[in-house]
Amino acid sequence: MSDGIRASNFIREIVAADSTAGKHGGRVVTRFPPEPNGYLHIGHAKSICLNFGLAAEYAGGVCHLRFDDTNPTTEDPEYVQSIQEDVHWLGFDWGNHRFFASDYFDQLYERAEQLIKNGQAYVDSLSADEMRQYRGTLTEPGKNSPFRERSIAENLDLFQRMRAGEFPDGTHVLRAKIDMASPNINLRDPVLYRIRHAAHYRTARSWPIYPSYDFAHPLSDALEGVTHSVCTLEFEDHRPLYDWVVAQAGTPDRPQQIEFARLNISQTVMSKRKLLELVEGKHVAGWDDPRLPTLKGLRRRGYTPEAIRAFCEHIGVSKRDSVVEMPLLEHFIREDLNRRAARVLAVLRPLKIVLDNYPEHTSEQLEAVNNPEDPQAGTRTIPFSRTLYIERDDFLEAPPKEFFRLAPGREVRLRYAYIIKCVGVTKDPRTGEVTELHCTYDPETKSGGPNAGRKVKATIHWVSAAHAIDAEVRLYNPLLKADLSNVPADEDWTGYLNPDSLERLTGCKVEPSLRGAEIGKRVQFERVGYFCVDPDSIQGRPVFNRTVPLKDAWARIEKRQPAR
Ligand code: ATP
Ligand code: MG
Repeated sequence: MSDGIRASNFIREIVAADSTAGKHGGRVVTRFPPEPNGYLHIGHAKSICLNFGLAAEYAGGVCHLRFDDTNPTTEDPEYVQSIQEDVHWLGFDWGNHRFFASDYFDQLYERAEQLIKNGQAYVDSLSADEMRQYRGTLTEPGKNSPFRERSIAENLDLFQRMRAGEFPDGTHVLRAKIDMASPNINLRDPVLYRIRHAAHYRTARSWPIYPSYDFAHPLSDALEGVTHSVCTLEFEDHRPLYDWVVAQAGTPDRPQQIEFARLNISQTVMSKRKLLELVEGKHVAGWDDPRLPTLKGLRRRGYTPEAIRAFCEHIGVSKRDSVVEMPLLEHFIREDLNRRAARVLAVLRPLKIVLDNYPEHTSEQLEAVNNPEDPQAGTRTIPFSRTLYIERDDFLEAPPKEFFRLAPGREVRLRYAYIIKCVGVTKDPRTGEVTELHCTYDPETKSGGPNAGRKVKATIHWVSAAHAIDAEVRLYNPLLKADLSNVPADEDWTGYLNPDSLERLTGCKVEPSLRGAEIGKRVQFERVGYFCVDPDSIQGRPVFNRTVPLKDAWARIEKRQPAR
């Protein structure tokens, strides 16, 4: 068993009970079976953590990475590559248990022929429309196809000619002969093979026919000796068919399918089809756009694998579909970064201040704590001088009662530095915009100095104008402006994208210790949020992504007040 503290869940209990009972000879073999037709998202992370996590709890437990690649037109090696990278990044490893459903094409074909020989499968030549009519509905049984009683010899001949590529797409299918009157529609003679003259990224043009998911998936599990086949709830009604196919496979040990609810998160999209639409329609910058819930996007945004794993463990698994609020995911990254991200001073929307009584042409180095949560992280020095930048919204000319920061005649403390007082406001005569503040500083109040204990109501962050580095900062807001659950299927859902999902700020000022910060480095901008260095950074001109803001008490107060 692993050393982490883990809450039990119904899947863990099933596996534990099977293991104790010695079912499957005591083996625990799970699999994560992505189709390589897109990049992985946080929903997949839930499945990865579950499947790899279950296996890791047992001595000798293994989790296979199996590419479920039976659909030639949508799959691509680029996706295989990215999926592998993402599983590794999340912290899991399949060892030498990497498989491809396409490697089983010969075996699947042989088993299909065997089903025909056993009288359990037949070639149907109804059109797709006719097949739909014959299938019946939830309340009415289906009808047998007129081709259902073809002889074994005729079925075998037709199937072999399908395989040889003699027929065009859609002319025939191979179906299991189960029961057209079954109350479970999935058992009404499901399709096992379709004709598709399409090139596959691994098998090229060697196959003009492709197995259906319902045929390939259970057989792949059985062939690999999977013991627990964990999948999402939409496959619950397929379970009798899964069991039927597995029984026909005749493997010594039968895998068991167990379903759980898929992860949905508010304010974002989680279907690969929609994600692909966003990427191809250039609504976002690519699969790793930090606004997306893809693992590449979350990673670029600054999420850590540890935070994602802790989130997945926390949400657990259930049998009921639900939507997890995005702020819960944000809570986990905040917790993780709070422990490890170095603190720095950075000003996103700079307002210049001049300390009238501070000597010109000089500066001093002040000591700053790197991470109050981690004494080992030590301290650094930051330069202080007469001209500084503070955050524009840390100053209000006519402050309301609850505003304790800088205002004319008011004092605040500058983090790690002095108490200052605002003594003058310069404005653009045309626009009335505040362009500069004049302040005085109290030399006695230096942090650690004789009057350091003097109390003022607020401490604000700042950077020294002459020493700061210019940076671009990208702020991310929810991808969607409304929940899609009420959007009619025929309406273009991209109309619900939030036009303000990305805000780019340029001319931001960050402290000089961030010079040369490596791509991916995660920091806390004190009082603002967690940020990480984006790959778009160039020498001397870093770009920071906001991973998640810090909680902002002021924004909450402001929200409660009527607009002024
Ligand atoms: P599609 O978006 O086309 O329905 P998919 O999400 O099922 O595809 P797969 O590549 O087939 O994508 O998924 C691989 C595995 O990840 C499957 O076992 C699937 O059940 C699981 N999975 C996918 N999405 C989620 C999700 N949102 N929550 C939990 N598990 C998921
Ligand atoms: Mg799928």
